[in-house]
Amino acid sequence: MPDRPTYGFDTLQIHAGTRPDPATGARQTPIYQSTAYVFKDADHAAALFNLQEAGYIYSRLTNPTVGALQERIATLEGGVGAVCCSSGHAAQIMALFPLMTPGRNVVVSTRLYGGTVTQFSQTIKRFGWSATFVDLDNEAAVRAAIDDDTRAIFCESISNPGGYVTDIPAVAKIADESGIPLIVDNTSATPYLCRPIGMGATLVVHSTTKYLTGNGTVTGGCVVDSGQFDWSQNDRFPALIKPEPAYHGLKFHETFGELAFTFHGIAIGLRDLGMTMNPQGAHYTLMGIETLSLRMERHVENAVRVAEWLEKDDRVDFVTYAGLASSPYADRAQKLYPRGAGALFTFAVKGGYSACVKLVDSLELFSHVANLGDTRSLIIHSASTTHRQLTPEQQEAAGVAPNVVRVSIGLEDVNDIIADLDQALCKATAG
Ligand SMILES: *Cc1c(COP(=O)(O)O)cnc(C)c1O
Repeated sequence: MPDRPTYGFDTLQIHAGTRPDPATGARQTPIYQSTAYVFKDADHAAALFNLQEAGYIYSRLTNPTVGALQERIATLEGGVGAVCCSSGHAAQIMALFPLMTPGRNVVVSTRLYGGTVTQFSQTIKRFGWSATFVDLDNEAAVRAAIDDDTRAIFCESISNPGGYVTDIPAVAKIADESGIPLIVDNTSATPYLCRPIGMGATLVVHSTTKYLTGNGTVTGGCVVDSGQFDWSQNDRFPALIKPEPAYHGLKFHETFGELAFTFHGIAIGLRDLGMTMNPQGAHYTLMGIETLSLRMERHVENAVRVAEWLEKDDRVDFVTYAGLASSPYADRAQKLYPRGAGALFTFAVKGGYSACVKLVDSLELFSHVANLGDTRSLIIHSASTTHRQLTPEQQEAAGVAPNVVRVSIGLEDVNDIIADLDQALCKATAG
């Protein structure tokens, strides 16, 4: 598609990154199911391997179907480039990899997807990295957590499990003043509800597994680069400014400018870590994104209706949805997320742990799964599943107390969603 930044979101979600196939005229982007690509001659091959010419070598690094998806997500997020990879968790490692070395740390929000808490609090230690968890609403605590070894701040735009909304401009300001990038996981909001780069974020990561694909079919991830961070402003990011021994001393920032991070992600990250997205997966996600705005509008509309109904119900103690007028985050949500606060929230059931378990077992339309962002409505009781290893105090702090369930509201008829909750709440709170 011609470079026309004037196109609206609904146009870009269908056209950005794709064009009729130059070889066959195929209107839909083909699944380029090929591992390798023929070089024109020896000079062409050498130029590709030296990163002097852009092109395809081997699908661990680049693939035309995956490339189309990268361009589409980068465009929707307002970034200059993107690197797709095998899952959301792979994207988080891919985002940190160029920034971190042993002994360095990342300052992260306490409000995160459960799997991310484990990845950051346990697994990254094996690389010699560490994470410092802070409440991002406490500016003094965030500033105090940043030290000479900090290489990034990490948060989610709309976060798990309670649908809490982050004040991205405020956190971006602290990152900027500290000379470090802000990385925002925009999975639950999607670029339709939130564009972190416009609010000052340097990198955006996605689990494309969720709303971008939209129907629970494939896992995938993506790192989008704003192109706006000056990696040479200090000496903290040697991988991006110092000569790279694996490329005859090439300096990524000097050579590729605003695309330094993206090129590093492909030429070093994908090449050597190998967390590659496969072209079939990219195809499903390209299909999903074509209807992103329509789905997100309905997800939000349904979530608001369900949250308002639950809030008024006697069998429910509280609802955490930031899209409710009664939410302590209502003002922030309206200001920063004017199209809606997503479709993920928790609610507390009178009767505690046993009532929650009974509720989950009694639902017929909702699926009991550890996932979100599906066309289907989903529910999970975190205290008895994803967070069962934590103490009750830790569960409380994580927003998944024993009396709380998390829902991801789907695209079904909202009256059917409410009727299902109604009949299950009856069973859960009877006697
Ligand atoms: C699911 C999810 C992840 C992890 O993504 P995977 O594709 O499952 O690896 C990360 N962050 C958020 C907010 C998620 O919902």
